[in-house]
Amino acid sequence: MEDASTYRAVHAVGPGRLELTKRTFQTPGPGKVRIRVEACGVCHSDSATVEALFPIEWPRFPGHEVVGRIDALGSDVQGWAVGQRVGVGFLGGSCGYCEFCRNGDLVNCRNQEYTGIHHDGGYAEVMIAKSSGLMSIPDDLSSVDAAPLLCAGLTTFSALRSAPAKAGDLVAVLGIGGLGHLGVQYARHMGFEVAAIARGGDKVELARKLGAHHYIDSAATDPAEALQALGGAKVVLITASGGKTVAETFKGLRPGGVSILLGVGPEPIEVSGMDLVFGSRKLEGALTGDPATGDATLRFSALSGISAMIETVPLERAADAYAKMMAGKAHFRMVLTID
Ligand SMILES: [Zn+2]
Ligand SMILES: [Zn+2]
Repeated sequence: MEDASTYRAVHAVGPGRLELTKRTFQTPGPGKVRIRVEACGVCHSDSATVEALFPIEWPRFPGHEVVGRIDALGSDVQGWAVGQRVGVGFLGGSCGYCEFCRNGDLVNCRNQEYTGIHHDGGYAEVMIAKSSGLMSIPDDLSSVDAAPLLCAGLTTFSALRSAPAKAGDLVAVLGIGGLGHLGVQYARHMGFEVAAIARGGDKVELARKLGAHHYIDSAATDPAEALQALGGAKVVLITASGGKTVAETFKGLRPGGVSILLGVGPEPIEVSGMDLVFGSRKLEGALTGDPATGDATLRFSALSGISAMIETVPLERAADAYAKMMAGKAHFRMVLTID
């Protein structure tokens, strides 16, 4: 045994309860690596673990925006080295042999586990991860800056990158929160005309600073009419949940446009068949992205100077960070740090 010492971690032990604990070092199994965690973002999807929105076997370490250095390789790991700085996102790593993997759709791999849900995530000093899910961290991104890009960044970047909009097309980003404040920056740097939509007049400054050309206050104006006045959006990126807001902005699409839903909520979405059929509009969902797109997210962010607005909190205070995020008081991403 390489060592019998322990490391610190924060685990969910029951609904809404996070506690500091200790865990003994483990040797990574075949196809897996052990990572010394340097930073881990706190994401709203961590509530899947902490509030058991998915079936969870407690205790479980949440965390799927993990950056750290590999310190041990399991057998059959190729392409990764001890000492390399890597990232782990929500998707725990594809299998490589199911029908979706064989067809190149790694996101929808049938045998993929979700990090921090099906196995322990990054609210810890050490994490075991499957090598097929790893992303490569560029040298010019700090671990703290890279962390939120592994879920919030990848999700918005990947959706925009695979959307049908071309340079100069109008792209709307609905919501300026943890996801939306990154979505606006990516949309601007990808060359789109960008409209940010949020409630209230107090976000105008922020929207412009992030790169939006237009700000639409959905509390004061009908967002669909405002988008149509600008010619209609080719893409509406929906970073807020809520069936009503999705339906409200759908009428702001131009013919051939698409609304892409990133936030998950319980309410159904009411979209009229008229709006779908006449104008060939689409409504679709997007789940984060594959590791290669994750690599691209990180490189593009470094090249374009895109970063999340971050508040750091030491690992041992993870419960406070989680509570602040859940209360909607994080501006805009909380990142756990390890000395
Ligand atoms: Zn996430
Ligand atoms: Zn697969």
